[in-house]
Amino acid sequence: MPEIRHDPLLDRWVIIAPERAKRPQEMPPAEPTAQAQPCPFCEGNEKETPPELWARRDGRGAGPDSPGWTVRVVPNRFPALTTSSPVRHEHTGLLKSIQGVGAHEVIIESPGHEDGLADLPPSHLQSVLEAYRLRLRAAYQDSRLAYALVFKNHKGPAGASLYHPHSQLIATPVIPQNVRLKLETALKHNARTGTCLLCSLLHQERTSGTRVILEADGFIALAPFASRFPYEVMIAPVRHMPDFTDMRNEDLLGLAGMLKDILQRLKMALDDPPYNYFLSTAPNPAALEQEEWDAAHLKSAGHWHLEILPRQRPPAGFEWGSGFHINPGIPEDAAQHLREIGTKRGE
Ligand SMILES: [Zn+2]
Ligand SMILES: [Zn+2]
Repeated sequence: MPEIRHDPLLDRWVIIAPERAKRPQEMPPAEPTAQAQPCPFCEGNEKETPPELWARRDGRGAGPDSPGWTVRVVPNRFPALTTSSPVRHEHTGLLKSIQGVGAHEVIIESPGHEDGLADLPPSHLQSVLEAYRLRLRAAYQDSRLAYALVFKNHKGPAGASLYHPHSQLIATPVIPQNVRLKLETALKHNARTGTCLLCSLLHQERTSGTRVILEADGFIALAPFASRFPYEVMIAPVRHMPDFTDMRNEDLLGLAGMLKDILQRLKMALDDPPYNYFLSTAPNPAALEQEEWDAAHLKSAGHWHLEILPRQRPPAGFEWGSGFHINPGIPEDAAQHLREIGTKRGE
């Protein structure tokens, strides 16, 4: 059974998940096209996964766990965390742990094995984003789960173990350290200035324009000032929006168009690089009380955003030891290059 252990030196959490060692490692680190065994995420192989949690079928197919879907969500067969067990906190001296309570789901982005997210139509990406919204809402129905992280690993060097396009959701009974740090920083800024930190930052970036890649349909994509990796991109709604699950269907379509556009530009600029992306959004309201955070305060301080990190080289000793990143790329140059690629494509 998985277990979440607290690191007392860094005040952060680690998931100890021996089940994960059993998962198939289909992908060699670099190029993952050849398959040793039938792909469990391909259409027609629905019985190879645990029963589905949700699927977009649009009236096609014979029902759950059969072909005819466009996006499908299933529990991870080799979960880092599961909800089947009751929460058990253990405490021995300085060491504390929580017996594995959580959720680990796979969002299969397309029935086709070779369908890259960047090449699917925006309406299809909208269904993927709808799956994120629905599964986040479902996770937060469970008051034991404090936070749910939606993320994607594209290609082996970015940590993907299956080639078939998919993203994942992992929900934990504690707020992850990075999420907590961001929320605390935003709350402090809000207490001092009465404004949302990201709203203010986006205003400043739009005024200067040097790091803005694209703005459309109420969303903005920019190269963060202190990007950790070359060609790092952040996408956020221009208007203040704390919680991704408050996105309406038309918002999801606008975001889908923006995400597709940015993924295509990155694909062209960097020859289809490995990348990770992840969503920073509001924690489960049930977790706020535990953190002694005021819900109204958090609503005016948090602002959801998506970070995309191309992964052309892994973090090394200095990064692990210091928490710093050394980025050999200049964010302003990356922004300019990605803007120009868009112009060329539109010619
Ligand atoms: Zn497949
Ligand atoms: Zn805001």
